[in-house]
Amino acid sequence: MEKSAYKNMWVYIEHDGKRAHPVGLELCCEVRKLCDVTGDKLVAVLVEGLPEEELAKIRACGIDQLLVVSGTGYEAYSNDAYSNLFTVLCRKYNPSAVFVGGTINGRDFAPRFAARLNTGCTSDATELVYNPESGDIEFIEPAVGGKMMAVITVPVLRPQVGTIRPGTFRYEPTGEKPAVEVLHETVDFPVADIRTKLLGFVPDDADADLDLANTDVIVCLGNGLSGPDKLPKYRELAALLGGKIACTRPLFDRGILPFKLQIGQSGVMVKPKLYIGFGISGAINHTAGFAGSGLSIAVNTDPEAPIFGAVDYGIVGDMDEVCDAMLAALKAR
Ligand SMILES: Cc1cc2nc3c(=O)[nH]c(=O)nc-3n(C[C@H](O)[C@H](O)[C@H](O)COP(=O)(O)OP(=O)(O)OC[C@H]3O[C@@H](n4cnc5c(N)ncnc54)[C@H](O)[C@@H]3O)c2cc1C
Repeated sequence: MEKSAYKNMWVYIEHDGKRAHPVGLELCCEVRKLCDVTGDKLVAVLVEGLPEEELAKIRACGIDQLLVVSGTGYEAYSNDAYSNLFTVLCRKYNPSAVFVGGTINGRDFAPRFAARLNTGCTSDATELVYNPESGDIEFIEPAVGGKMMAVITVPVLRPQVGTIRPGTFRYEPTGEKPAVEVLHETVDFPVADIRTKLLGFVPDDADADLDLANTDVIVCLGNGLSGPDKLPKYRELAALLGGKIACTRPLFDRGILPFKLQIGQSGVMVKPKLYIGFGISGAINHTAGFAGSGLSIAVNTDPEAPIFGAVDYGIVGDMDEVCDAMLAALKAR
């Protein structure tokens, strides 16, 4: 395969007809940086139907092209239609890389179309690096239970396909380019050939307190928490700071907080402006989940706790006492 025949980097924009899923926007911002190094064009690919104000958010990421697809078969998500769509588009345009958000749908169809194109797909990457010597993208992801970071490449084949965990990158738009080329494609997939049937749609229990993705302030509780009776003071602290509480895995294991609040490699990846961790030892499985946050602070009785190596400020002390002191100081203001 002549790798140089494959050009430009694609980001798939998943949407529900009203809003673009944040992961597509996050990816556009990150892949923009890669394209600036490689000279590739950044192409956002989506099925038609997104309102203009959402398209503006995509253009603001500095994309070079918008590839808008219309056709039959895309009313509801199906593996059949989307695998076919990207197989057809990639055969026509020969992109060098295709980045897909690691959502339930993205993780479903990305490996399928990669297999049809006879190329490789890396799942659940948390870092993207361009290697100028090989010309390949290095998809970096936690492996062996988070004990090591695996660097995965697609060294021979193209396109390089990968799914990337939502929340890994920030939506930090660099601004719209003066000219964004808009391409239209019609790719029909016969509705009768879709092997899955949408019987109904039941939205997830939409509890705003469980959605950490766009939270500016996170008060994270670890195994140092003596029991659920202590939760109210941390909830109050989070509320006073305009944020939400989260936890490490042991608090979920102890049944104190739900899994959706677990931060880390097997939980949610967050990048708040302020992270305060109480009673957390600092295992990489957890700290990787808030790397790149604005300001980070940890409270621990053990001055040797590894968490102090992962945060900006450390407070050696009892977590409940420090929380009380913070509450008093905030209320006094
Ligand atoms: C494959 C795999 C994936 C994992 N994924 C995740 C993940 O996504 N997220 C995650 O969090 N973990 C994850 N883990 C678990 C992770 O390895 C750690 O076990 C976990 O993060 C430890 O949580 P902790 O720091 O709260 O608890 P501990 O390690 O028990 O630490 C508790 C800390 O609290 C301090 N402390 C105790 N009492 C007080 C007090 N009164 N005041 C102040 N400090 C006090 C102690 O000094 C100690 O440092 C994963 C593990 C594996 C193997």
